Amino acid sequence: VHHDDRAVTPGRGSRLATTYAPLPVRAATAEGVWVTDDAGCRFLDMLSAYSAMNFGHGHPALLAAAREQLEAMTLVSRAFDHTGLERYAAAVTELAGKDLMVPMNTGAEAVETALKVARKWAYEVKGVPQGRAEVIVASGNFHGRTTTIVGFSDDPDARGGFGPFAPGFVTVPYGDAAALEAAVTADTAAVLLEPVQGEAGVVIPDAGYLPAVRRVCDEHDVLLLADEIQSGLGRTGATFACDHVGVTPDVYILGKALGGGIVPASAVVGDREVLGVLRPGQHGSTFGGNPLACRVGTAVVGLLRTGEYQERARRLGAQLREELAPLLGHGLEEVRVIGLWAGVDVDPSLATGREVCEALARRGVLAKDTHGSTVRLSPPLVIEPDELSWGVEQLADVLRSL
Ligand code: PLP
Repeated sequence: VHHDDRAVTPGRGSRLATTYAPLPVRAATAEGVWVTDDAGCRFLDMLSAYSAMNFGHGHPALLAAAREQLEAMTLVSRAFDHTGLERYAAAVTELAGKDLMVPMNTGAEAVETALKVARKWAYEVKGVPQGRAEVIVASGNFHGRTTTIVGFSDDPDARGGFGPFAPGFVTVPYGDAAALEAAVTADTAAVLLEPVQGEAGVVIPDAGYLPAVRRVCDEHDVLLLADEIQSGLGRTGATFACDHVGVTPDVYILGKALGGGIVPASAVVGDREVLGVLRPGQHGSTFGGNPLACRVGTAVVGLLRTGEYQERARRLGAQLREELAPLLGHGLEEVRVIGLWAGVDVDPSLATGREVCEALARRGVLAKDTHGSTVRLSPPLVIEPDELSWGVEQLADVLRSL
């Protein structure tokens, strides 16, 4: 069956609330970097489930870990300890160079956890008067979909109709450390930032930005919370995107790839002075730290410890940058690349990002638009150079056809 001949029309008669407008592809199976649909068509995955699939579909080591754990035990809740919990916490904290972690499930939950911790830290450690703690966030942020989080989004789709919102958040322009410093008050508990803004279109700040933010945080006794849910765990060519500029945040917020694309697993990782403010009964999750997630997450850390995936992201990212460069001015207005992660802005007079992604799907490539005319490319880090070249060639062909 040719990709063009498939008639997948989601929406009509669907029992799914329309929270997504998916591309017309109905995936059935997947292996490595290839997704096969229900008609037998193959697609190159250039999205990786928004970087949750960094290690590729069905990675043997991750599947083996999951299978073994499925047979042994999958859930006991945190009412009891279990054999994989401390091992997982040790692996994640060691990877991050921190003392403690809170295991959660989704990214949004981990962000919420970090916000709770930052507020409590502000009251108990910094001495901010009760009820006054503020958190500084950046324009263009994406940290998830809970009511608190969408309340400090500046995306009208994300926040419109969902208020009233939680107070205590101040927005400053992303990439402007002076504006951030000007927004700091005696009540500022934390700064919450994505080191690279993924949903905004792979927006990479100047190299001096995060170090300057770190200095501001140090000078004013403010926590730096790095949302590395999308940027972390190998995608940018380092374990954490913060590593590129030598910045150590007070708290790492991890998710997506931590669950190996098998289970939802997220985490908040920080030092004892910060995460130590949480006492029993003050935070939790039925599924957070479940045996299956712990086992898979520990195996994910094992893969990252080899450095192989970070190295692949650097090497393949250099190739991606090189192969995208000739498309500048030929359908692309701007290209931003860090590691194996690119945001490409299509000339809006030619097509929307959505139209380009639909055309890519017809050519057997899965990618996703973000805002307007931007397309994000984030293939699994296990992609081979010739597969990557083929994917970029399809993009070039689509752009030529506009
Ligand atoms: N933070 C960042 C930077 C993200 O990219 C995302 C998801 O795209 C989230 C948080 C939310 O994660 P989840 O969808 O698992 O709640």
